[in-house]
Parts: sequence; C-alpha cells; structure tokens
Amino acid sequence: IRLSNATLSQIQTAATPRYDRAALKPGIVHFGIGNFHRAHQAVYLDRLFNLGRDHDFALVGAGVMAGDQRMREALAGQDYLTTVVEQSAARSEARITGGMIDFLPVGDATAIIARLTDPAIRIVSLTVTEGGYFIDSSGVFDPTHPEIRHDGKHPLAPRTVFGLIAAALSARRASDTPPFTVMCCDNIPHNGSVTRSAVVGVANLYDPDLANWIASEVAFPNAMVDRITPATGERERRLCADDFGIEDAWPVFCEDFTQWVLEDNFPSGRPALEEVGVEFVADVTPYELMKIRILNGGHAVIAYPAGLLGITYVHDAMGHPLIAGFLEKVTRDEIIPTVPPVPDTSLNEYAELIVTRCANPKIGDTVRRLCLDGSNRQPKFIVPTLADRIAAGQPITGLALESALWCRYCAGTTDAGETIAPNDPNWEKLQPVAQEAQSNPNAWLGQADIYGALGNAPILRERFAAALESLKSDGVETTLQRYIAGEL
Ligand code: NAD
Repeated sequence: IRLSNATLSQIQTAATPRYDRAALKPGIVHFGIGNFHRAHQAVYLDRLFNLGRDHDFALVGAGVMAGDQRMREALAGQDYLTTVVEQSAARSEARITGGMIDFLPVGDATAIIARLTDPAIRIVSLTVTEGGYFIDSSGVFDPTHPEIRHDGKHPLAPRTVFGLIAAALSARRASDTPPFTVMCCDNIPHNGSVTRSAVVGVANLYDPDLANWIASEVAFPNAMVDRITPATGERERRLCADDFGIEDAWPVFCEDFTQWVLEDNFPSGRPALEEVGVEFVADVTPYELMKIRILNGGHAVIAYPAGLLGITYVHDAMGHPLIAGFLEKVTRDEIIPTVPPVPDTSLNEYAELIVTRCANPKIGDTVRRLCLDGSNRQPKFIVPTLADRIAAGQPITGLALESALWCRYCAGTTDAGETIAPNDPNWEKLQPVAQEAQSNPNAWLGQADIYGALGNAPILRERFAAALESLKSDGVETTLQRYIAGEL
C-alpha cells in the first residue's frame, strides 16, 4: 500500500492516527525534518493528538538545506505522513504519524518568515545537528561565519535558521504579536541557551535593540532528548514494504526507548506533552550532562575502534568483547564520576541500559553514523569530560585513548588497510592533521577549534601520545586489551 491520506484506512499492519487530520491547525514550525524529529517530537505529538488533545499544535516542516528539499518532496508525496517503526530486541511495531500538515518551501525566506510571523505559531523547534549552531569549541557563537555575516547584511533574506527566526521575531515585535518559544532538540549542552546566543547574535549584527528584546522576551527552554534513530536507507524502505506492506518514501526506524526532559518555559503556551511522557523540570542540566556524557560520549567510545576494525553495525561492535570492555571501563572509571546526581536516576543503571540499547540488533544503527562529524561532536561529548577530569587532577587514560582512536580514524585507514571514506564535514581539514599527528601527536591536540586550551595540558599530551603510539605499533585490539588490563 502506497502511503497517503487516501490509503490510510486500508492499513492494518500499523497504528494510524485516531484524530481528524483535516481539522488540525498549525502551531509549531520545525526546522530540520530529519529522522530524529520524526522519531521523537513528532511521535509525542501524534500520541497527544490521539488523546484528543491540543489539535491546534500541528507541525509545519521547514528547512534551509538542499537535502530538506528532497525530504519535502518525499513527504508531500504522501500527505506528510510518516511510518515510524519502533523496535525492541523482541519485536517491531509500526505506527503512522499524522501530526505534520505542511512543509514550507525550502530556501524561500519570504514564505518562511511569513509563516513564522503568524500568531498561531507559538513554538519554533529545531533539530539541525550539532554542527548547525555556528559555535566554537567553547560553545560561543561565531558572528564572523560567512553565512551569519550574510544574514547580518540581508536581514530580510536570511539563509540560516537563526537569521529566519530573528527576522520573524522582529516582525512579530513590530506587529505586537507575542513571540513564539524557540525549542531546540539537538544534542548540545544547554541547547536552549546555545540557540538563544545564535538568534541574538544574528540580530545583534543589524539591530542591537532587537537583539536585547529577544534576549529578554523570548523563551529558549533547554531540553534533553533521547531516542536512537538511524538513517534511512534501502534496507529500511524494504523492511517497511516487506514486513508491513507499506510503501513509504522515507520511513523512520528507531529503538523502542524514548526520553524527553524539557524545561517548562513556554510563555506563549505549549501542548500538554506531560500527558504523553515528557518530563518537565525546572533545570535540565543534570539530565543533559548524564545523556551527553554517558550516551553520546559512549557512542563515540564505541564508534572509532569499531570503525577502525571495519565493523558495520553498532550491535556487532557491542558484541566485540574488547570494544564492550573499553566502553564499560571508560564509562565506569572516567565518565560517570564527572556526572552529578540526577533526580530519581541511578547512573550505573542508566549506563547498563545504554549497553542493552546499543546491543539491540533490530535497530541496524551503523558505526559510520556514530563516527560521523566528530569535529562537531567531540567538543560536546568528550572534551568537556576530559576538561573536568584534568582540572580535578584525575586520570584520563581511557578518554585520551578515545581521542587517539578518533584521530587515527580521521587519518583515513582501518587496521586492515582499507580506506575510510570522508565522514565529517571538516574531513579535508582533519585528515592532513591526523596524518601529521601519527609522527607529531601534538599537531592533533593543537586544533584550537576542537580542544581549545586543553590541547596544551601536559597530561593529555602525554596520554594521547602514548595511546596513538600503541595504536600505530600494535593496532586497535592490542591497545584496547592493554587499556582494559590497566597497562596502557
Ligand atoms: P538527519 O540527517 O536525518 O537530519 C538532519 C536535519 O538537519 C536535516 O533536516 C538537515 O537538513 C538539517 N541540517 C543539517 N545541517 C544543518 C544546518 N547547518 N543548518 C540547518 N539545518 C541543517 O539527522 P537526525 O537523525 O535527524 O539527527 C539530527 C540531530 O538530532 C542530531 O544531530 C542530534 O543533535 C539530534 N538527535 C539525534 C538522535 C539520533 O539518534 N538520530 C538522537 C538524539 C538527538
């Protein structure tokens, strides 16, 4: 069955929306309609709409990248419906989500700003990846980036998400329309605050008064989001058709686990997401540190040794005793001790659950996806943990090894001598430095945009060089063995 409004009633293999989609009204514009949004926020909203609640908070898609145009066409061709397949190790369940009702023309700033200015839009949410925020290694917004400078010069024809949001807030302010709340759902520490500095930073380039107004009047709640959602490929499209009989141009496969912890700061109103499992808290920081350091940091720990050993799937990496042992030891000895207590949560149990989640063979998450974009991820997932430990005078052998594995990966050759295809937007910059680092390790740590001042820390230099040397002379497996045995 080809997915569309017209065929929805014929679908027996998946739960379908129990609400009248034609009666939904737009309330949220979301930038970055990738897989994660459709597995996470869109599913929470679908559940809420199924309860008969808040039908005036339907989703409108938006994007600024060329890839968003492909997604827009795929979704428009199926009335913005998405098949979401939720998979535990034991079973797979499909649902069709219907909370999205439109997708704005990609790259059409005038149309996007017009919709963002509509008073009905009370939330603008984002998942534009960790690299999408124009921040440097210390999390500070970079107003000199060419895209941002462009938006500063052309406030009514911006190209970035932040330029569009600033322009719309300016128009709302001029027309006395209350501002929308900006809700970031990317994996970035203090993601709301980071988003605020980007929007305020752009506005500041052309209207400091507007920038001040945004800083004081617009809410940017911080959030912790979690649900492992791999990219969609032919495998997923085929599974969707074979197992569920649904032809979906861009289905989403994800794990059955999901979590969303959100600061309750929505002055213009919000859907009653607490009815469908969202945890509203006053301060999301402890949850976010737990997630970013243990899960996202853990993903990085698994990713690079697996990539260097030529392993394709994450669950196979978890089945490799040395990778599992590396994850277990570095999590217990070096990562968990830097995470402050989290209300009603055992950090050890959280870490154990992650091991189970990553070992789920149904997800088909790829090592390559976890290896992607280290230049934007390491400064958020690994470097802050390293910094805390170094400041406290604590050992960092495992995290330095993780950094060395990443460096080795960026040098572009697996242990078996296979070429690693570019896997980072900054690959061309990283690879020559990674290659130089094989004989001069400090070259890698000297990348100030990634390591900042930490790259000069003697203990990091020493441990990183030792790890890199071991990888070079004896390979990944022996080095992991040494680390696990406490001999690195
Ligand atoms: P995806 O590749 O499916 O989608 C990424 C989206 O971001 C696309 O719409 C793309 O056009 C847009 N984008 C990328 N760079 C951009 C930029 N510079 N400016 C504007 N838009 C940009 O990826 P995904 O799986 O949806 O993940 C997106 C983000 O969601 C992650 O980077 C992460 O922060 C967060 N997240 C993902 C997962 C997961 O398991 N996939 C889990 C938790 C959080």
